[in-house]
Amino acid sequence: MANIGTCALCGDENVAIERSHILPAWSYERVSRYSPGRSEPVLVTEDVALQTSEQVRRPLLCRKCEQRFSDQEKVVARWVVQEDGSFPLLQQARELEKDVAIEISEEAARALSYFGTSVIWRADVAQIDPVVSLGNALKPTRAFLLGESAPPAVMVLTLLLPPRGYPRMDRVVSFPESSGGDSDARHEFVCCGVRFSYIVGETASFGAVNAFNTRLAFVSAGHSILQSVTDRVGKVTMKGKLAAKHE
Ligand SMILES: [Zn+2]
Repeated sequence: MANIGTCALCGDENVAIERSHILPAWSYERVSRYSPGRSEPVLVTEDVALQTSEQVRRPLLCRKCEQRFSDQEKVVARWVVQEDGSFPLLQQARELEKDVAIEISEEAARALSYFGTSVIWRADVAQIDPVVSLGNALKPTRAFLLGESAPPAVMVLTLLLPPRGYPRMDRVVSFPESSGGDSDARHEFVCCGVRFSYIVGETASFGAVNAFNTRLAFVSAGHSILQSVTDRVGKVTMKGKLAAKHE
């Protein structure tokens, strides 16, 4: 039976609340399909690495708001890394500066920025691990997602290119994490070849690279992200099926 409650986004009361995904179902499918001999994605959180087929969902949204997010997710799904390994966003971009910056389509910039914001907002509202805290930006972020106002932050998009001899960064999906202080908070996650950085506070200096207003995206070999994932995996406690494999 469906939960009856208040929608976290539009605020409608006494409505059926869906078990909403934090990250879309297709992102799990694409990661797991790309891991030969492994059918389930590895989920890395603050202190735990867990191999799981369970997709993280929380009762959050009414059907109308689920649809609102799903419309943008469908557009994003067409642009990010596909099941066959192709990367339409990268293939159709115009190179502005070799190995540094590209120009993506307006449709992609708009959908990716909205999608990135919605995932980070969902992570904050659902209080999954690692905990994301938008602080004062939480309410204005919600207003933006409802189409009521401009975003209170900057979105920087980085397309991850697989460096030679390393695991493919486009196979990584990570949950949003917050870093920095009140005046320069960053909320970031990686999904199917794209890093989404939602930057609150000192946003003026990022104006020229803000994907809410421009079509600019960066490209990166993803070394720093790979390193942080590797460090994390080295430190964490293995649980579930992963632990069994390492015994
Ligand atoms: Zn709603």
